[in-house]
Amino acid sequence: MPLALVLERARELRLRDIDLGWTLGPRDVRIRMDVVGVCGSDIHYYRYGRIGPFVVENPMVLGHEGAGTVLECGAEVSRLAVGDRVCIEPGVPDFASRESRIGLYNLDPSLTFWATPPDHGCLTPEVIHPADLCYRLPENVSHAEGAMVEPLAVGLQAMMKTPVKAGDVALVTGAGPIGILTALSALAAGCARVLVYDPAAAKLEIAARYDGIVPVAAHEGTLAGAVRAATGGWGVDAMFECSGAAAAFSEVAALVRPGGTLTCIGMPTGPVPIDIVSLQLREIAVATVFRYANVYDRAVALMASGRIDVKPLVSATYPFGDSIAAFERADAARPDDVKIQIAFA
Ligand code: ZN
Repeated sequence: MPLALVLERARELRLRDIDLGWTLGPRDVRIRMDVVGVCGSDIHYYRYGRIGPFVVENPMVLGHEGAGTVLECGAEVSRLAVGDRVCIEPGVPDFASRESRIGLYNLDPSLTFWATPPDHGCLTPEVIHPADLCYRLPENVSHAEGAMVEPLAVGLQAMMKTPVKAGDVALVTGAGPIGILTALSALAAGCARVLVYDPAAAKLEIAARYDGIVPVAAHEGTLAGAVRAATGGWGVDAMFECSGAAAAFSEVAALVRPGGTLTCIGMPTGPVPIDIVSLQLREIAVATVFRYANVYDRAVALMASGRIDVKPLVSATYPFGDSIAAFERADAARPDDVKIQIAFA
């Protein structure tokens, strides 16, 4: 049985052997994991044993932000070869479902997703996964960067759902990894500037190291005042809500220009009141994002071209044997930490 980082129940992690029950199918590849990122959702399962309707009822291997190296190919795999370095899309849909057939495979109700109960994740030295969901990494993209493709994909999905035009000014609320990666995606999509708001000054400092990102600090008065000042009173073309905090929805109409867009990326923990009339009076369109579909190639291309540099966002890397320490560090939520990664080598 392979060794893995197992969440036994809330607040109880163990590095132990576990039977994953994975077998190599004809369209699968066996992959040696090289780097896995610790995601906010991994931490949420660790703290609470659940996310919304998904409850950890049996021991579950954590991790879904992975990059590795192909060790073995199933009989029908032709697109990948042994030795290929890949990043791995953790959601496995039924590609024949109605959702998949209209391009929304992320919404397929039968989709399984690494480290979402009851499915195991990838914090184990070897995984088996459909080859069609593995993406070759160019030589100039490291495994550590490859493990950042998953969270970057969320930011890029937001651009697929939002009509961003060259020269737009955007606002991102929440400067965690998803917020910063969404801001970088908005810049890559053509935004001239992206205002990033977060109550934590240390997070803003990290975001502000990127050209084009304008930090908006909480102590500078109201967010609406700061946005008005930065946009000549007009408002932003696009707002990307990445915090999931209910308060973020309370003044959308004061932040977004007439005819602009609000894209919801962060997931509130419950229903959030939102003043629809205030949006109607400005014809503000609302888009929503759940994970991603068909954007991994784009994420890899943006990293390979140098247009998006995720390297400054990796705050610390722990060896696999110290996975529990990595989770304790991520759980401590230091304001100057963005992404904690675990490396197998
Ligand atoms: Zn993630």
